[in-house]
Amino acid sequence: MPTPIFSWHQQLWEDFMRRIVQNRVPHALLLYGQAGSGKLQFGLALAELRLCTTANSSSTASTPSPTACGECSSCKLFRAGTHSDFTLLQPEEGKSILSVDAMREMVAGAAYTPQISPRRVVVINPAESMNRNSANSLLKTLEEPPGDTNIILISHTPSMLLPTIRSRCQQIAFPPPSSAEAAQWLQEQGVSAEEVAEVLQLAEGAPLHALTLASSDQREHNKLMGEELNALQRGQANPIKVAYRWANKKNDPVLTLRWLQQRVVSIIKTAYKVESPASQQLFLFLDKVNESLSLANSPLNKELMFETLLLDWSKLRS
Ligand SMILES: [Zn+2]
Repeated sequence: MPTPIFSWHQQLWEDFMRRIVQNRVPHALLLYGQAGSGKLQFGLALAELRLCTTANSSSTASTPSPTACGECSSCKLFRAGTHSDFTLLQPEEGKSILSVDAMREMVAGAAYTPQISPRRVVVINPAESMNRNSANSLLKTLEEPPGDTNIILISHTPSMLLPTIRSRCQQIAFPPPSSAEAAQWLQEQGVSAEEVAEVLQLAEGAPLHALTLASSDQREHNKLMGEELNALQRGQANPIKVAYRWANKKNDPVLTLRWLQQRVVSIIKTAYKVESPASQQLFLFLDKVNESLSLANSPLNKELMFETLLLDWSKLRS
């Protein structure tokens, strides 16, 4: 089975099919939109299709296959993650910046003829994880990709990219799904109808983030975070250690920050009821959480961000 296309991306996919028929697929693409809405999966499905030897054979040139075949050697290698003509560049686990060495290696490799597929394909996710050095290393390849190389950049915050990177790509906006589409998809993934509205709201409508929030692992993590916040306020936990755990949790730090935001908001509401003098301090803390959230998609040091927040939090002794 080839990589599936989300129902809310179907129209965009059909637009791409038309581009393929007309041989108008740009060499450099920038797919941008809300984090957690599935742009990476679209980029991967497109990469798989552009690499698939069956879909790109001359016999299918006039009526192109709408998806990769899922059967040819290219598709099998792609699925196994060992396709030599495909590169997925993303920060290493726990890091937020893409290594310059990985970028240079990709640029050097792009000069070689593809081995299996008709072209090489590179996906960079997210593009804002490139620092200035990585971005500069990419510029020339982006402007004149060797052979028929396709470069697909995924971005949640395209305004953070160098203008020279943006201007070399065809930019395609990925609108988020409607709440009905997102809700239906979540239910198909096994999220209960009662839970759907809550997780979608917390994820600001991003279905993939909402699905993560509904997972039992995330629920367990949230419960533990709640206990840690209480322990910190009682001076019974070390904010540096807790920050380390939060930063190294294999999920999007945005989800953790949003959970913290909701938590503080709910505490403020309770504090107001009893007119607690602590509410002013809580509002100041909430400002800091909101500020971190506004920067959370940028390549920052997650550990340092959580350390700063949790040190502040631990000073708010209850
Ligand atoms: Zn194939």
